[in-house]
Amino acid sequence: MKSTTIAELQHKVEQHQVKGFLADTEAAALYAAALSVSGQGPCLEIGSYCGKSTIFIGSACKQRNSVLFAVDHHRGSEEHQPGEEYHDIDLLDDSGIALDSLPIFRKNIELFDLNDTVVPVVANSDVAVKAWQTPLALAFIDGGHSHQRSLADCLTWSHHVQSGGILAIHDIFTAPEDGGQGPYLGLQAVLERGQFDWRETIDSLAILVRR
Ligand code: SAH
Ligand code: MG
Repeated sequence: MKSTTIAELQHKVEQHQVKGFLADTEAAALYAAALSVSGQGPCLEIGSYCGKSTIFIGSACKQRNSVLFAVDHHRGSEEHQPGEEYHDIDLLDDSGIALDSLPIFRKNIELFDLNDTVVPVVANSDVAVKAWQTPLALAFIDGGHSHQRSLADCLTWSHHVQSGGILAIHDIFTAPEDGGQGPYLGLQAVLERGQFDWRETIDSLAILVRR
């Protein structure tokens, strides 16, 4: 298979104006992280939205003949709801009230030829984790950002990362004035448990490696 470079991917993402919340630097770091470990097992993300992070992690998985489980209920986080700061009117469903990012997500997965790599899990994260058994090469946490939700996602999903695997957490802001503290609290809680080493932080993306 012809390997896709990160520059080609980013160009296509920009060309098609894929909606999402991921800086170029963070996308490149996620892609590199997934390339480095996805030969060892499947990857998983919490919080796909319209598929931006899915495209980068998924394209790396595709090159390694791995899979990416993409968990999202597709009803949006608190900040995506009508009247809130990150609401996007294009994502309203037929009712005109509820959010549904699944149609655009599917379109993007097809556009990037990832149907045979990405496994959409349309569910609440805490329901999906209840029955989860598969060891993960990489888990990317970018779902609900409340303190409670971030903590739960970081602690429950990190448990499934295999030895040598990567836990990546998005929206890490060490100062409250820069952003919500949920993901940062989740990161600290994972480090306190002593099973992960911090490797690097790229903009707001923290990369940890399991011992
Ligand atoms: N990773 C995406 C952005 C994710 S935005 C990107 O690269 O653009 C956060 C997403 O988390 C939203 O789509 C929302 O529907 C989802 N989400 C929020 N809480 C969730 C929960 N409890 N379970 C599953 N998904 C959740
Ligand atoms: Mg995010």
